[in-house]
Amino acid sequence: MALFQSPNGTKDWLAPESEHLAYLVESFRNQAELANYHLLLSPMFEELGVFVRGVGDASEIITKEMYEFTDKGGRNLALRPEGTASVMRAFLQHNPPSPFKVWYAAPSFRYERPQAGRYRQHHQVGLEAIGVDDPNLDFEIITLLTNWFHLIGLRQLSLKINSLGDDICRPAYLQSLTSYLEKNQSDLCREHQERWQVNPLRVLDCKKLECVGVKENAPKIKDHLCSDCNTHFATLLSALDDHGIDYVLDDYLVRGLDYYTRTTFEVACLSLESAQNAIGGGGRYDNLAKSLGGKDTPGIGFASGLERVLLACQSQGISFGEQQGPSVFVIDLLNGKEARDITLVLRDFGISCERSFGSRSLKSQLRQADKSGAKLALIIGEQEKENDLVQLKWLSDHKKERFSEFLTTVTDGVYDISGGNTSFPPEFFSTENKARIVQYHLSDTLPAKIAIWVIKEFLNDK
Ligand SMILES: [Zn+2]
Ligand SMILES: [Zn+2]
Repeated sequence: MALFQSPNGTKDWLAPESEHLAYLVESFRNQAELANYHLLLSPMFEELGVFVRGVGDASEIITKEMYEFTDKGGRNLALRPEGTASVMRAFLQHNPPSPFKVWYAAPSFRYERPQAGRYRQHHQVGLEAIGVDDPNLDFEIITLLTNWFHLIGLRQLSLKINSLGDDICRPAYLQSLTSYLEKNQSDLCREHQERWQVNPLRVLDCKKLECVGVKENAPKIKDHLCSDCNTHFATLLSALDDHGIDYVLDDYLVRGLDYYTRTTFEVACLSLESAQNAIGGGGRYDNLAKSLGGKDTPGIGFASGLERVLLACQSQGISFGEQQGPSVFVIDLLNGKEARDITLVLRDFGISCERSFGSRSLKSQLRQADKSGAKLALIIGEQEKENDLVQLKWLSDHKKERFSEFLTTVTDGVYDISGGNTSFPPEFFSTENKARIVQYHLSDTLPAKIAIWVIKEFLNDK
């Protein structure tokens, strides 16, 4: 066993899984940019207060799960447990024009019991839009999340929506919920018998049988919304109706964080186990700016945990394609200088390539080329060098034959490729020609270009 292991609850992401993660981020970025959201890179740690005041000190994330530390200057800091509070802190600090529309892809840190699909460092993508309380923005945010899931191929999704009201209507609702829970506290689950007062809304979120029984008859926020909250919610729902987007109204959707107001939403993936099937969610946080000491500024956003999304993809058999090896493996039998130069040129032309390092025998280099997953080996030895030639050898299907001489007409200048014109008559790429050795002449870019073209054609053909 190695001397060191990755810390408990974390993991190293190696290819191809790491590339699946990168693919998810890339597709998310495309979606976000289509709607004019731009990348925000904020620090991985913040002053402790950003999260305590932002997320709320009644939240379990803050009380139990946060990675807090004191740095060498005595500052109280914390690794980010979630993304939104940092985005709002950045908004208040820089005062950009609103709406401030950003996306991010970053790790978050929570000290929780390691279990399947849950890590102490996990990776989230998210969108936030700050400065507008228009319900059409809620619609935009929600559809960006659901569209992204569709784009990566996920099906069997369920969009749950609720409204949590605002400062006008929620206090009265909380009061009636509180007196109801007080009357029924002995029937709550063990944890909530003790803790229900800290945040009564969280009882609605509890999946324990006892709490489920109690909350069935609990007062519902939807019966307590003020007229502004009602209008806001109704506008959002009718926008979803107009576009035929299915949703489920969920009176118990309060989400884990204190800062949510009005719209909250969550997407569940039904092919995952129900206790852990939320693959993205968020909501409006019109009070967050104020709790971070800024002036009243509405905002809405969501985050999605990539580890969970990957599990969802796996549960539905969504594949991300095989891991790609390089296109070309350059085998140099002349001590490596040719490989050095050829790989440089190939990469200039956008052809991925690999080589071996250190002087190795032909056999060993071929073995390495095979292992790399490259399609084509480009071999240069004494004889090839002398004749300004390279040998091409298919690797993927292990064809053994040696290709014959290169098409001399090309070097004779029969085809005019001066001035960057790289179009060739179709017969140039005849199967017969392709199956020949390609000239490679590095000191002269013209034949090099021809070689590149032929190599590209070779690769496309396979
Ligand atoms: Zn409970
Ligand atoms: Zn209201």
